[in-house]
Amino acid sequence: MANVTLRNVRKTYPGGFEAIKGVNVDVGDGQFCVLVGPSGCGKSTLLRMVAGLETITSGEIDIGGRVVNQIEPADRDIAMVFQNYALYPHMSVFNNMAYGLRNRGMKEAEIKSRVDEAARVLELTSMLERKPRQLSGGQRQRVAMGRAIVRQPKVFLFDEPLSNLDAKLRIAMRVEIRKLQRRLNTTSIYVTHDQLEAMTLADILVVMNGGQVEQVGNPLAIYEKPATTFVASFIGAPPMNLMSTRPEEIKSQLGGAGEAGILGIRPEDFVITDQTPAGGVALPLTVEAIERVGAETFVYGTREQEEQRVAATPGELPPGEIIVRIPGTEAPAIGAKIRVAALRNKLHLFSGDGRTRLE
Ligand code: ATP
Repeated sequence: MANVTLRNVRKTYPGGFEAIKGVNVDVGDGQFCVLVGPSGCGKSTLLRMVAGLETITSGEIDIGGRVVNQIEPADRDIAMVFQNYALYPHMSVFNNMAYGLRNRGMKEAEIKSRVDEAARVLELTSMLERKPRQLSGGQRQRVAMGRAIVRQPKVFLFDEPLSNLDAKLRIAMRVEIRKLQRRLNTTSIYVTHDQLEAMTLADILVVMNGGQVEQVGNPLAIYEKPATTFVASFIGAPPMNLMSTRPEEIKSQLGGAGEAGILGIRPEDFVITDQTPAGGVALPLTVEAIERVGAETFVYGTREQEEQRVAATPGELPPGEIIVRIPGTEAPAIGAKIRVAALRNKLHLFSGDGRTRLE
């Protein structure tokens, strides 16, 4: 087992594009770290640098107390699982799993013992003689994981391993991967653009944007206190409602320094009510659309126009689009005028540029 530490890691691709702009991350021994962010933010580049598939322009990557910058991928003691399982179609499941070990000249008896054990853990024992084409997508993904497991590496690297699977299987495999990692207790770094996958898998979540780390931490802590408006809108679905506030509003409602800022409220933190909670906020909405998905209902509303809010009670917010999440048993009518409110402790306040959390 091993820690993985990235120290001021940078990557400039030939041609001059700076894909990674100074990243610091520390993944503890046995931890499951997820790199998440939108397409192009640099998460695959970073993972490939840990794997040794991409050179490091500057900074250091340390695996198990050893700087690996100059060490070949095969000697880094890592195993990588890719999204396109890259199984050999003509080989049986057993041979697919055994391939890497045979290449290294391991004895057949040891290979058999490792493959049998991995197959047991992955529930592939009855499929060892099949060819990849005789397997379902989820089973192929498990074989790909088996190939990584048999190597008994210090670190697993996962590059969007579930993105080729359908939605239901993704969820099932997500749970499987988490259980497996808990059982093996191997340090893991996992790349995904899916924030839900990231939230559910991570011990430590790294939210990336434009080649930089926006926030690192426990996923729920990040959800509860996003450090920037980028993180606030990326983590959580539907995203946090963000609205600009004027200096006097921040001052009167939130006791801030009186600067213009951005106020954030998660969809689930609104309730439909005529009350204005003390220190909280309330706003009138016109219901534009409703999505009923069973356990919950999403209400898409527009805030009232400027003229109408002149007479509004203190604590009301400026106009714009708002998403509200309410229990599935409720559903206001389209076109209805409702009033929603959020408690003081549900308000997130950011600087005007969205780069700093004020409270
Ligand atoms: P995705 O989720 O779409 O895979 P990502 O976050 O993994 O995105 P990367 O693949 O790491 O992003 O790419 C980061 C940035 O670096 C992108 O802007 C990409 O265009 C650029 N990039 C990637 N590989 C190269 C390369 N070989 N040469 C030049 N630029 C590259």
